[in-house]
Amino acid sequence: MKSQATRARSTRAARTRAPRVGFVSLGCPKALVDSERILTKLRSEGYEVSPTYESADLVVVNTCGFIDAAVDESLAAIGEALEHNGRVIVTGCLGANPARILERHPRVLEVTGPAAYEKVVSAVHTHLPPRHDPFEDLVPPQGVRLTPRHYAYLKISEGCNNRCSFCVIPSMRGRLASRPIDEVLREAERLVAAGVRELLVISQDTSAYGADLRYARGEWRGGEWRTRFIDLARALGSLGAWVRLHYVYPYPHVDEVIPLMAERRVLPYLDVPFQHGSPAVLKRMRRPAHAENTLKRIAQWRAQCPDLTLRSTFIVGFPGETEEEFEELLAWLEEAGLDRVGCFKYSPVQGAAANALGGHVPPAVQEERYGRFMERAAAISAARLAARVGRTMRVLVDAVADGAATARSEADAPEIDGVVRIAAARHLRVGDFADVEIVGSSAYDLAGRLV
Ligand code: SF4
Repeated sequence: MKSQATRARSTRAARTRAPRVGFVSLGCPKALVDSERILTKLRSEGYEVSPTYESADLVVVNTCGFIDAAVDESLAAIGEALEHNGRVIVTGCLGANPARILERHPRVLEVTGPAAYEKVVSAVHTHLPPRHDPFEDLVPPQGVRLTPRHYAYLKISEGCNNRCSFCVIPSMRGRLASRPIDEVLREAERLVAAGVRELLVISQDTSAYGADLRYARGEWRGGEWRTRFIDLARALGSLGAWVRLHYVYPYPHVDEVIPLMAERRVLPYLDVPFQHGSPAVLKRMRRPAHAENTLKRIAQWRAQCPDLTLRSTFIVGFPGETEEEFEELLAWLEEAGLDRVGCFKYSPVQGAAANALGGHVPPAVQEERYGRFMERAAAISAARLAARVGRTMRVLVDAVADGAATARSEADAPEIDGVVRIAAARHLRVGDFADVEIVGSSAYDLAGRLV
């Protein structure tokens, strides 16, 4: 922690050079996009982004409060920033509950809530005034990004109108607030012009996009588009970049996007957080589209677009989950044959409605079900990847080291899915597309050879 004298020196130094902000970004890609927006704004005002606590005049911690483990991680990160810098502003999901933060870390300068860009920027102004220089404060048109240059997250909305019983995001981030389609498309256009090869569409509920705006019209490239899921997919598909759709719920209107996937206008990849396979559990979870026959829908999607990759997340050990319901989930998983699967053991989040449900599953049973679930999911993944051996696939290169490349196919989102490893790929550069023949597979990854 800095002494008062050191802090005074830091403040004086900040008056003669650009003020420096350290930034810690925790949580999901949606939080990452919030961080990028805050940083873009601060950079445009002449702030520098500091890579270390010690060289920063102040640190902003963008927190996550999704589950208790994320809350603990956020509180620990705030403590670390206080220890190494001493001047800390907290924002993000956990900021929706300032008392919880201030109780543990009373020295925090200010707490602002999720998606409160103006508030966090104005808190920075209060504690570290900007030194504006229009000749120096040049920000690239695509803004400041925390992802590599060749891919970017595109956030299309904030908040959520659903009320899943295990989730407190709506109470933290509010109701669905979509960005108008022309604004989203202009941002996507700028990103592609700046070298982005892959756009990852994110929100809390991508399939609901525009419902709050009554699917308002917008103009882009001389045409009229509506603020709705299918128009967004069509328009993004015309930009020449890979377009990957995350957080899509299996509502009937989602079917319309499958032909675009079959034509490769958008990637044949859908991230659908199914969360369970038992209708009774889904009902207790109050999941959107819980009454839909998802297995039938998946079969229809695959009939139209055989290369479709399905990614999903699940919760095991939800309150009241019986052995029969869990078996139902395993059978559902087997029949659905999902390509990519993540799994969480249910953990009660402070303020979630599900905490009041009876029949909490003991941790040992949760652990045992988690193990069985992951074993089954790994076997399905391994079989689906083995079926790709011998095929030629287009990949996007993420890293090159020692003459070998690590890339991703259409079926792999960054950070969460597998990779395609390519030996003898010295000439490839990060952000290149390449065609490879798949020559090997494991449970989650592939090996390829350049063709
Ligand atoms: S869809 Fe459900 S889980 Fe997702 S943010 Fe909304 S309420 Fe939470």
